[in-house]
Amino acid sequence: MPPATLPSAPEAAILVIYTGGTVGMAYNRRGELVPMNFEQIRKKMPELRQLNMRVEVTNLGEPIDSSNVTVQDWLRLAALIEENYARYDGFVVLHGTDTMAYSAAALSFLLENLGKAVVFTGAQVPVGRIRTDARRNLVTALEMAAARHPMAGAVRVPEVCVFFNDLLIRGNRAKKVESQQYNAFRSENYPPLARAGIELDFNDKQIRRLPSAPLHAHQRLDDQVTILRLFPGLTERMMRAQLDAEELRGCVLETYGSGNAPTAPWFLRCLREATDRGVHLLNVSQCEEGRVLQGRYETSAYFRELGVLGGDDITVEAAIAKLMFVLGLRQNPAETRRLLTQDLRGEITII
Ligand code: ASP
Repeated sequence: MPPATLPSAPEAAILVIYTGGTVGMAYNRRGELVPMNFEQIRKKMPELRQLNMRVEVTNLGEPIDSSNVTVQDWLRLAALIEENYARYDGFVVLHGTDTMAYSAAALSFLLENLGKAVVFTGAQVPVGRIRTDARRNLVTALEMAAARHPMAGAVRVPEVCVFFNDLLIRGNRAKKVESQQYNAFRSENYPPLARAGIELDFNDKQIRRLPSAPLHAHQRLDDQVTILRLFPGLTERMMRAQLDAEELRGCVLETYGSGNAPTAPWFLRCLREATDRGVHLLNVSQCEEGRVLQGRYETSAYFRELGVLGGDDITVEAAIAKLMFVLGLRQNPAETRRLLTQDLRGEITII
């Protein structure tokens, strides 16, 4: 379906990709929340016409709740951005909040050498409700996507990011932390890229530089991965139910504190058998702040010897997306390990 044009004085051209989520929901006559199409959303947002930009809209498909987002949707989003890359100055992805951090992280890996802004946003309250946050979020996301440096005129935020409430956050550092209040997202282990108050206040030093190479939209993710979250009381049988899957290629191990885990022989045996089979294990902390420091305690010293990789300060959302992305590159084991421990898109801070 060709994008529908909204009339406005064009200073920048932004493509909105509507995927669904609470932002576009409305109550039907039976009192059920159902998704609207973007034309219905647009009617509820006359302020879009006041923006000095050309805003065009396309859909990923039928609007969906973001709990139903799939790996295929991420690949289609990346392909859609690549197809439209030359025609627009920036992109806004309207998306449900529940899995927005996963999608933004996945897109950050898929879109290598990104030189334009791809801003994910959504809302806690549907656009038609009086106390909606959709209008402010969408208008500001559009402004962020169109932003240029005042002097040089270069793209200000050449990154995949999440804009919500008042914060612009690097996509692979975003985490949904709130389901009732407006400030639904937090930036983990990295400062926000910008803050929207009366003015848009960009944190230029923290924003990635413009790439020197052209965009490369990757088209493969490996979904033979899982997340194993440790808890006191985890049994060998339950651990094996996840790690012994024959097709498993990678696992995010959610450990305690600075990357610690039990030292029980059965636990170590499970890990060793997995790494011997070529499964890549990425150690990510359950703590929201801080980082994995393998070897700091006896309870993580054996990880290196077992071939478990330290995830530094990565979020779980970014870790699973990175694992899918790197495994999708189908490199040899040594190169896969190297890529998994490297900072690819600003998702980790190496110290
Ligand atoms: N369940 C919704 C979704 O993620 C929540 C939201 O959009 O805020 O699609």
